Amino acid sequence: MDIKFGYALGMSDVSATDAARLLAGLRRQEPRVCQVCGTEVIATTRRLYCSPLCRLKADYARHAEARKAKRRARYHRQKEESQQNQA
Ligand SMILES: [Zn+2]
Repeated sequence: MDIKFGYALGMSDVSATDAARLLAGLRRQEPRVCQVCGTEVIATTRRLYCSPLCRLKADYARHAEARKAKRRARYHRQKEESQQNQA
């Protein structure tokens, strides 16, 4: 990386690794729409959400779907078993 650029920004006391990471992040900035609330954010990484809150919501929804699927499977299994018992 260009050391002079770092000095110009007053980052001489920042470690080269941190500076490199910062620059890499700047290069990767791109607009992104939050998958949960639709807010447009400038993402420096490959994140999908505008905030930790939305990430939590998405995680919760994903796990809720998994829980529902599990419950549905158990329900169907019990239903089949009860039908077999009746027959
Ligand atoms: Zn959001």
